[in-house]
Amino acid sequence: PGARPYRGRFAPSPSGPLHNGSLLAAMASFLDARVHQGQWLLRMEDIDTPRVVPGADRVIMNQLTKLGMHWDEEIVWQSQRLALYQAAFVSLADRDLVYGCACTRQELPAEGPYPGTCSRGLPPGRRARAWRFRVQPGIEHFHDRWQGPQQQDVTAQTGDFIIKRADGLWAYQMVVVVDDGEQGITHIVRGHDLLDSTARQRMLARQLGIAYPEVMHVPLLRDSAGRKLSKQNHAAAMDLSHPLLTLGRAWQALGFDTLQAGSVEAFWTRAQEQWAHRYGLR
Ligand code: GLU
Repeated sequence: PGARPYRGRFAPSPSGPLHNGSLLAAMASFLDARVHQGQWLLRMEDIDTPRVVPGADRVIMNQLTKLGMHWDEEIVWQSQRLALYQAAFVSLADRDLVYGCACTRQELPAEGPYPGTCSRGLPPGRRARAWRFRVQPGIEHFHDRWQGPQQQDVTAQTGDFIIKRADGLWAYQMVVVVDDGEQGITHIVRGHDLLDSTARQRMLARQLGIAYPEVMHVPLLRDSAGRKLSKQNHAAAMDLSHPLLTLGRAWQALGFDTLQAGSVEAFWTRAQEQWAHRYGLR
């Protein structure tokens, strides 16, 4: 698998413009792809339609361009790939790896894994609302290029998880695995908040015959109160009138020393040298 040519991606949800937090994932994934002479793809994760803000995809494209991050190949929009997700679902269903679940939120425990109520068939008189993936027992081990060795017991932590939601939309875990597989992604570089999803995604990928990519989960930007910066808590918009300053702050947030660069192009050249020095080896 190590011999496959490097293909990385940045996969923002167009629920608003990129902010200083999402810039870290964009920057790290871009640098890692360039340093490995790989492709860097842009995928719009607009599957969660209630959260999509019309036009946010254009804004994101414009932000990346202004910051000198140029993507390869055509942009992919998840909303245009529903047939792919359906085909993957059918392939799982054919092997009894998914089941319909009638449980409402009120019927589920407040925390802990799904108790498996519907795993042996729906209770009498109930209808499937969502669809769950049958988790195979066992500890999932993997290596994260930033965080080091990881292990996760998906059965104990989440149990059978939802791949098609009660509102009819495909769940993030499902579409991200299908897309990374279909796009031939070899390396995932993304925010630390998704480390926790990796074991679930590896399990799904295995059942779908997809070679799961190498992973690197980079730190999240936190505000002065220690909260993760996100669109939900109104992270400050990026300052595009001073792209070098914006890039420089993200670079330092990734743990590097200040870079002296007189232009955006020079910034990326220097940053690639330093990234290669630290993360050039797979
Ligand atoms: N769309 C996800 C997000 O914006 C990222 C998905 C991924 O990188 O796996 O948080």
